[in-house]
Amino acid sequence: AAKRNRLGTAAYEPGLDVHSAAQLTVVSDLRRAIDQQELVLHYQPKADVRTGTVCGAEVLCRWQHPRLGLLGPDRFIPAAEESGLIEPLTQYVLDHSLAQCQQWHAAGWDVPISVNVGAQCLHDLTFPDQVSDLLKRHGRQPDVLTLEITESAIIADPRRATEVLGRLRELGIRLSIDDFGTGYSSIAYLRTMPVHEMKIDRSFTTNMRTDSSSGAITRSLLGLAHNLELEVVAEGVEDEETWTALAALGCDIVQGYCLSKPLPPDEFAAWLRDRMLT
Ligand code: C2E
Ligand code: CA
Ligand code: CA
Ligand code: CA
Repeated sequence: AAKRNRLGTAAYEPGLDVHSAAQLTVVSDLRRAIDQQELVLHYQPKADVRTGTVCGAEVLCRWQHPRLGLLGPDRFIPAAEESGLIEPLTQYVLDHSLAQCQQWHAAGWDVPISVNVGAQCLHDLTFPDQVSDLLKRHGRQPDVLTLEITESAIIADPRRATEVLGRLRELGIRLSIDDFGTGYSSIAYLRTMPVHEMKIDRSFTTNMRTDSSSGAITRSLLGLAHNLELEVVAEGVEDEETWTALAALGCDIVQGYCLSKPLPPDEFAAWLRDRMLT
């Protein structure tokens, strides 16, 4: 248990030196995890607010650790970002989720996927070609893929990020700003960034019916996004009442436990089959 704690908190300890022993354990373990294919992908559906029709899935990474069990991304994504492993990790997630997407396509289901992209990828001018190669390798059109990026990733180097995002967009890949409103405010960047979609963070949607400021922020973000002709996804929608309230505000897409939690691929397929039959 002591080991578990040490490893578990290693990535979060504020100000922890990257070279500390615990951090190095996570990093070398993670390198092995990528090589040995220990990372597993779960899929969380998104639906049209008005019709309830499933319109895609977000890919969320977990680590099936041989000793520690199934670890959530908060346990290893920060270490991956700090150590430079986020690029191979992102490649892994893209590779495996596009393979899954192709498999579903062959079975008659077209499920567009959204993949979270680490900050460093947006500063790598070769990243767009890497994504394009993976799409080709899995025989998928670029419009099945949305890349979710965060504000902080853009702000680290806005010029480089704009160039990379511009190339991705030229390739026909959709772009989404994740967790909007939680980082540095980037309203100015929203204007110049070539994105298609805004995701309203769970911290706003979860409390929107009980906390008037969360409600006001959600309404404002929806207005801002729609004025910029962005599609809006509300994440963390946990109950019917919030779904109804978001529909009344003109939100486009919902995602959250109200629809389904993230599921392993076979359970996702079963869930989808059930839903289409009823
Ligand atoms: P995120 O991109 O904001 O993903 C949404 C998180 O909210 C997920 O947590 C999801 O399981 C959770 N969630 C979804 N619906 C609800 C709901 O109704 N209520 C509540 N309370 N939570 C909900 P998860 O899977 O633990 O992922 C956490 C974060 O880790 C993600 O936040 C994302 O930033 C990062 N992450 C996950 N997979 C990847 C990946 O493959 N690459 C990168 N770079 N980051 C990833
Ligand atoms: Ca996301
Ligand atoms: Ca998010
Ligand atoms: Ca979030």
